[in-house]
Amino acid sequence: MTKVSDHITQAIAAEKTAFSFEILPPLKGQNIDTIFANIDPLMEFAPPFINVTYHREEYIYKEHPDGLLEKKVVRKRPGTVGICAAIQNKYDVDAVPHVLCGGFTKEDTENFLIDMDFLGIENVMALRGDAVKSEIYYKPNKDGNVYAQDLVAQIMDLNQGIYLDDDLQNSSATNFCVGVAGYPEKHLEAPSVESDIHFLKKKVEAGACYVVTQMFFDNQKYFEFVDKARAAGITKPIIPGIKPIATRKQLNMIPQRFNVDLPDELVREVIKCDTTQEIRQVGIEWAIAQSKELMAAGVPVIHYYSMGKSDNIQKIASAIF
Ligand code: FAD
Repeated sequence: MTKVSDHITQAIAAEKTAFSFEILPPLKGQNIDTIFANIDPLMEFAPPFINVTYHREEYIYKEHPDGLLEKKVVRKRPGTVGICAAIQNKYDVDAVPHVLCGGFTKEDTENFLIDMDFLGIENVMALRGDAVKSEIYYKPNKDGNVYAQDLVAQIMDLNQGIYLDDDLQNSSATNFCVGVAGYPEKHLEAPSVESDIHFLKKKVEAGACYVVTQMFFDNQKYFEFVDKARAAGITKPIIPGIKPIATRKQLNMIPQRFNVDLPDELVREVIKCDTTQEIRQVGIEWAIAQSKELMAAGVPVIHYYSMGKSDNIQKIASAIF
């Protein structure tokens, strides 16, 4: 299999923007065919890699007949590693599992990475993760990595054959290419853009090969972010992440949850719509316009957030790839 950094190098050499996308594992209880049904229509655009998100545990409260509440830990979307292995098997395309700090001890992380290595997966996206749904602030696991930068460092150690147990003899080195997240409009907890870029640089210095951005709807925000990152000395590729708007609810949810602004013109167009179908169409047209401008600017890859439904991504890709 090939590293994402090599796919990027090839796209730059060919002067051809590549298409890639992210999928979510299905809700527990569904089968792998729901994933394949979303990927199949996108294969004609020859994605060099496909990302699969990771969803940490949630706490739910189950009420018993006597009124007592039982706190239960559930994972609603398990299956990240299995889906990655299935993608590599079925499509012969590199799968990029997301790996989190939150909810993992360093030992869990090491074992997760060993599974991936044994499955022939050579790419991972290293992320901190958010707070669990019932908590306001992110809390690192007591024995886990605190920031994505620490996770990148652990993966780089493994790439040198350095495991947590230093008594291991003749240990085998892994060979992961690591991507990290960047935020054109600043991560919601960061006190300033400058501070966020400072810590992005730390992730790159720790060993990340490339950056994938949070969604943005105004390309200017991406171009300015890239300029600032370059001025700060970050030289690795910065892949733009594009998400087509698909529902009216997202107008309020996206700014609140992701600290991402929506341009007035896009909001006006969505508000005019009577049906979700019309909103999806507005989202498609906006994403096509964004993609065309990014392509003209020479980005090596455009990465699309599919959110588990690929019909809109298929329409965008048909228009431009
Ligand atoms: P970090 O890089 O650790 O940064 C988190 C915050 O801490 C930032 O504000 C940063 O400025 C600050 N910071 C960083 N290092 C330090 C330091 N040393 N000292 C002080 N402050 C510091 N979430 C999931 O749960 N599953 C997924 O699959 C997933 N995929 C994603 C894919 C992409 C492309 C993106 C953009 C996000 C994804 N997320 C996912 C969401 C992500 O987990 C959250 O945005 C999370 O809040 C931050 O993750 P990070 O890796 O950017 O964190």
